[in-house]
Amino acid sequence: MISDGLHSGSHTAVRELVEEFKKFPGISLRSAQRLAYSLLNDEALKKSLEKMLALARSVEVCKSCGCFREVGGRCENCDNPGETICVVANISDMTAIKRVGCFDGSFHILGGLIAPLENSLPENLRIGELKKRAEAHPGVEVLLALPFSIEGDATALYIKDVLNSCNVKLSRIARGLPAGTAPDVVDHRTVSEAFSGKTIY
Ligand SMILES: [Zn+2]
Repeated sequence: MISDGLHSGSHTAVRELVEEFKKFPGISLRSAQRLAYSLLNDEALKKSLEKMLALARSVEVCKSCGCFREVGGRCENCDNPGETICVVANISDMTAIKRVGCFDGSFHILGGLIAPLENSLPENLRIGELKKRAEAHPGVEVLLALPFSIEGDATALYIKDVLNSCNVKLSRIARGLPAGTAPDVVDHRTVSEAFSGKTIY
């Protein structure tokens, strides 16, 4: 048997540490091992991890709009709806739009798209919350920045139906944001063109 130089208790701790890192999205066993071994060998990284945890605990997701806010604090996004509420599937879409700087209203993050086969149902998304926000701000424009895919179209149609009785201007961007694309990959032109060519929906 090859000895790794660890006593059984510490061996279990290291294995558990690797398992914890593996819980993060996109982290393979190999990456998890690399992160765990780096952490074990670096006091500065341990401090970083403690800081990351404290920062993450200071922020929560607003139940109404899905944006981040200070724990127990007011939601700046809900408090300042602006003339337009931009509806996106995920927080990464909002990040992409904010980075390009082509939109100065507020956001509404659905938390996904309607995809019954993946068990992503309307009641699991922040669609009821969107209706409440729309009702609280009569005359507001609701701009759908959703992907032009089966799920994106189904979600857009569902929202159109839900907001039918509300006094809102419903519009949709000209081109969908590429679904599931990391925000740093979506180029400036794609996002700004999509926003400049929005249409009444
Ligand atoms: Zn909010």
